[in-house]
Amino acid sequence: MAILSIITHPHTTLRTKSDDVPVSEIPKLQQFARDLEKTMLAKDGLGLAANQVDVRKRIFCINTKDGPITLINPKFSRKSLKKEEAEEGCLSIPGVYGMVKRHHSLKATAYNKRGERIEIKAVGLLARVLQHEMDHINGILFIDRTDKLIDNQPDGEA
Ligand code: ZN
Repeated sequence: MAILSIITHPHTTLRTKSDDVPVSEIPKLQQFARDLEKTMLAKDGLGLAANQVDVRKRIFCINTKDGPITLINPKFSRKSLKKEEAEEGCLSIPGVYGMVKRHHSLKATAYNKRGERIEIKAVGLLARVLQHEMDHINGILFIDRTDKLIDNQPDGEA
């Protein structure tokens, strides 16, 4: 197990759309997924995307009340029309926080690190973290989605 080093803005990998993972490659990525989860936990993150550790694959992990989960090739469905604005921060943009509008709830489908299909229903903060991480693997940062930077640190960074 290893703690991976997190790259910071303006590293070009953070601006690169990541590639889908061929399903046959998932077994080889189990150790990477565990390291990504361990790194997220070590940094007190709510989520962490593979390209934040300079790996351009469509993988991210999130921290849920039941522990960390890795999503591989994630897709969203059923995004709520309702949006809400809240504070966000990012492990790749230290010390910067802003107000970002996100869908209130959504469903996500993905492969987990064992290569099984999973579906997650998320509301509120978990839905926000999923959207923040999906943005990461598409090369988008939360600072692109805010015009209101703030001084106080929110509950967590991703
Ligand atoms: Zn982030």
